[in-house]
Amino acid sequence: MAEDNKLSKPASELRFDLVSKDWIVIATGRAKRLDEFAKQTRQKEEALEEKCPFCHLETQGKPTLEYKDKDGNLEVVVIPNKFPAFSHAESLRERAEGPYSLMDGVGFHEVVITRDHRKSLAELPLALMRRVIDAYQERYLEFVNEKFVNYVAIFHNHGKEAGASISHPHSQIIAVPLIDPDLQRSLNGSRMFFENQGECVHCKMLEWDMEEKSRIIFENKEFVVLAPFASRVAFETRIYPKEHHPYFERIKDKEKDSLAEAMNVALGKIFKGMNDPAYNFFVHTAPADGKDYNHYHWHFEILPKTSTWAGFELGAGIEISTIEPEKAAEYLRNIN
Ligand SMILES: [Zn+2]
Ligand SMILES: [Zn+2]
Ligand SMILES: [Zn+2]
Repeated sequence: MAEDNKLSKPASELRFDLVSKDWIVIATGRAKRLDEFAKQTRQKEEALEEKCPFCHLETQGKPTLEYKDKDGNLEVVVIPNKFPAFSHAESLRERAEGPYSLMDGVGFHEVVITRDHRKSLAELPLALMRRVIDAYQERYLEFVNEKFVNYVAIFHNHGKEAGASISHPHSQIIAVPLIDPDLQRSLNGSRMFFENQGECVHCKMLEWDMEEKSRIIFENKEFVVLAPFASRVAFETRIYPKEHHPYFERIKDKEKDSLAEAMNVALGKIFKGMNDPAYNFFVHTAPADGKDYNHYHWHFEILPKTSTWAGFELGAGIEISTIEPEKAAEYLRNIN
């Protein structure tokens, strides 16, 4: 028996996330074959163009940004969200009601739309992906100069299971006075590591991962696409600049070309390898509240929704993923 135990693989492996300080469970015994992801059937309720608000921009607010191609066709347009979670105001009222604190939902909420109703970001040509990144940066830089904006969130929901209520491809940008708790944890973890070890935790992980290679999915001169060591969900994917940069909005033109390629490859591999799953992606970047964030290293996080095999959270707050990040990376690496 003892001999058997030595040979058999444990049902799961616990992995420590250096930044969030969470323990993640990789439960390999429960995994299905990877290529089954590609065969998953998905129910697609395609909303028709006729009824799509983003195909009928005349029904929407005045664009805050428009990119057109040389023939004058719209490529990317940014509009205010018709049902904003935050709205612009000249003052920010804070108050208390007994033990409770309240604050006005002051800020900005915009939508970044690509023209083609049926082409998701994963299917966009490289040049258009680049325009989307231009739009993210341009609006970001606009918002950080506004009063009461301490943090700008850029995110994209693809597919109903990921919370996209309108099927026309669109990203959202929210600029708010608060820093979101998920980013706050990431910032705190990075700061603690920096104070204790004197270096950036993300650079440290990148250095190891790029040397070790098993979790690398793709890399070009400036960016690396990888499956994080402590992946929270199956096929979690991140995109990091190889050099240490705290602020996404300071990205240079040439780096944007490389980022567009990295995004294009990452989303394309997920699209093909997993039969167009729903996913969320977002940017983690240093806030714009004037504090020092030199310890931080901005990045994109892509979290596919693998409904059937999604990790679940225990009461203890431990997340379980059923795919080893090394296997996910190998699988995605080989998708062309
Ligand atoms: Zn549409
Ligand atoms: Zn770094
Ligand atoms: Zn992050």
